[in-house]
Amino acid sequence: MADRLYDLIVLGAGPGGYVSAIRGAQLGLNVALVEKDKVGGVCLNRGCIPSKALIHNAHVVSLVRRAEEFGISFDHVKFDFSVALKRSREAVDRLTKGVELLLKKHRVVLLAGTGELAGSKAVRVKTEKETLQIEGQNIIIATGSRVKPLPGLPLDGSGIISSDEALRLGDLPGSLLIVGGGAVGVEFAYIFSAYGVKVTLVELEPRLLPGEDDEIGEGLGRAYSKMKIAVKTGVRIAGIEKEAAGYAVVLKKGEKEETLRFDKILVAAGRAPNSENIGLESSGVKIHGNFIEVDPFLRTSVPGIFAIGDVAGKSLLAHSAMAEGITAVETIAGKNPAPMDYGLVPSCVYGQPQVASFGMKERDAKKAGIPVRIG
Ligand code: FAD
Repeated sequence: MADRLYDLIVLGAGPGGYVSAIRGAQLGLNVALVEKDKVGGVCLNRGCIPSKALIHNAHVVSLVRRAEEFGISFDHVKFDFSVALKRSREAVDRLTKGVELLLKKHRVVLLAGTGELAGSKAVRVKTEKETLQIEGQNIIIATGSRVKPLPGLPLDGSGIISSDEALRLGDLPGSLLIVGGGAVGVEFAYIFSAYGVKVTLVELEPRLLPGEDDEIGEGLGRAYSKMKIAVKTGVRIAGIEKEAAGYAVVLKKGEKEETLRFDKILVAAGRAPNSENIGLESSGVKIHGNFIEVDPFLRTSVPGIFAIGDVAGKSLLAHSAMAEGITAVETIAGKNPAPMDYGLVPSCVYGQPQVASFGMKERDAKKAGIPVRIG
């Protein structure tokens, strides 16, 4: 027997899930939103928001370091990273409270617990006190993603860390190896280097931000080198050894090897979708390489079940998750939305200089035989 009946159940309250729930309520649906941790998901709690708050701090620090160029001098300057962290946590708290208020205002029923599909129209929710079975005409899976460890680099939460810990570092290390030159690695390199950490940024591909046009990654690499960030591309980790203080890491480029020592290692390479233990198998929802298979309206292989955001893996960005949520809910409500067009999703990386891109990349256009003119 179901404990409650809803028009829509949303599993996960990250940017995809909470936007879906609110849009559903705005369209007159009776919505339940199930969240096992904090409202706001990765983006608000340990992703976009705290990292961008720290980046703003890093930018201020960088400007202060160049103050004399602007005719400003100080007798004494102190850069206190703990204040930057506090500021970032305050931004997180303010925004998550804002989302909670919005959910309340739209009368979304927020259920604190871990949810899993129990058939195509039901979700089982384990709360602290009980297990509920709720039923929904439609279900949106928005369970997001988590840090993915790399083989040979086991995360231990203190010496070898992920972005989760990097956003809460109490003491700054003297030296830091960042593994992965994508958006997350590039942004953390800027933050920690601004605060005086000796940063080495390694990327397996021949240039930073491999998803962007080639000259973007090359230009960013040069700018970072000027900032005294050691950028090493086309490099893989060939060995790692724990020492009394820190790690000895063997970096290999082609046949050449070098061993460098670091106080800490930040692994910033890839995310794993939260598609396990949510009842996909028993409900018949198909996956493709651990991501849930969806069509351009975010419909899964099971009628009435949708999947959006990182767990669907089409575009691992918060604004994509939000746009997908709106498309899914409007499909459910019979509003005939336009199908998702990922060519219209902008992408931004907030290092220095900042990088923004949109649409097809030069190499993809060339591959597709489309003539390219550069302006
Ligand atoms: P998530 O945000 O992962 O939320 C999923 C939610 O589901 C979580 O709250 C989780 O607790 C909950 N959940 C999972 N399983 C269950 C379950 N069984 N029952 C109940 N609840 C469950 N993107 C940008 O667009 N711009 C940026 O600047 C940016 N910066 C980033 C910086 C970092 C360091 C990281 C790690 C990511 C960043 N991202 C950024 C990516 C962005 O955070 C994600 O794309 C976005 O959070 C995905 O949203 P989502 O709703 O799919 O899932």
